[in-house]
Amino acid sequence: MLVVASANGKVGIQAAMEVLRAGGSALDAVEAGVRVVESNPEDHTVGLGGLPNLLGEVELDASIMDGATLAAGAVGALQGVEHPISVARRVMEELPHVLLVGAGAARFAAEMGFERRDLLTEEARRAWEERLRQAGGDQSLQRYTAAMRRWAKLAADPERPNETVNFIARDGRGNLAVGVSTSGWAWKYPGRLGDSPVIGAGNYADNRYGAGACTGRGEMAIRAATARSIVLYLKQGMSLEDACREAYRDLADLVDPYAGPFSLIAVDRAGRHLGVSNRPGATYVAMTAEMDEPVEAPRLVMNV
Ligand code: ASP
Repeated sequence: MLVVASANGKVGIQAAMEVLRAGGSALDAVEAGVRVVESNPEDHTVGLGGLPNLLGEVELDASIMDGATLAAGAVGALQGVEHPISVARRVMEELPHVLLVGAGAARFAAEMGFERRDLLTEEARRAWEERLRQAGGDQSLQRYTAAMRRWAKLAADPERPNETVNFIARDGRGNLAVGVSTSGWAWKYPGRLGDSPVIGAGNYADNRYGAGACTGRGEMAIRAATARSIVLYLKQGMSLEDACREAYRDLADLVDPYAGPFSLIAVDRAGRHLGVSNRPGATYVAMTAEMDEPVEAPRLVMNV
């Protein structure tokens, strides 16, 4: 049994492992782990406390995938629901669809009994106002919607917090699952989806080969289909490290004026795991059933 997560998943990794120890599935474990991070107001990149879009609205993206059946569910640009990962799971289980966005996702969440909640914390609101003020805007930005595309460049701010939470679990039956949740790029253009809700970009799991999940500039993972690529390279017989290297080579081929931080975690079918980043010093966390505490391991540095 194994749980691997991005470093900000440390707060939820014990909860995920508890699920596995109790005989729960990999899907249950990734959902449990992600939910803890979504409720953490200190994390400004996921769920409650996440930094908002250009209009000051918290818009969440999440996805979940079952490596046993290749079933997947996702939500994008969802407002007012604290646990988008659980809504994504219900999309997978209740609907003949994979991805719901915006008003439709919110409607489905309400139908499934998820409570509505204001997710914009005071701290996140102040950060948004401050960023707009620095950039010469003001809180009445909503009156200037016609010109908002000019402001979307704020989302390329290299100082912005850069994370998303990734969880991969392997349960006692050897099944793999992956879960991803994010508030996306701070100050993004409303309605922008990153890689996190796009199956194959920010998230992919297939018991037969392995699983991958990404954080960082989602537009790159969408264009290179990164998570699926890792699994495909594993299918072709590459080692976990070589599969990740090949995926990073694909990212390096992208012509992208906004290319920035990019990280991933990956697990192969034997349960070997790896974290990779183009930022030296970045870490990820991993825990097996025998461990009392997770280990925080360095990510291998690869350039994009
Ligand atoms: N991958 C996320 C997105 O593009 C953001 C991040 O991880 O920094 O929405």
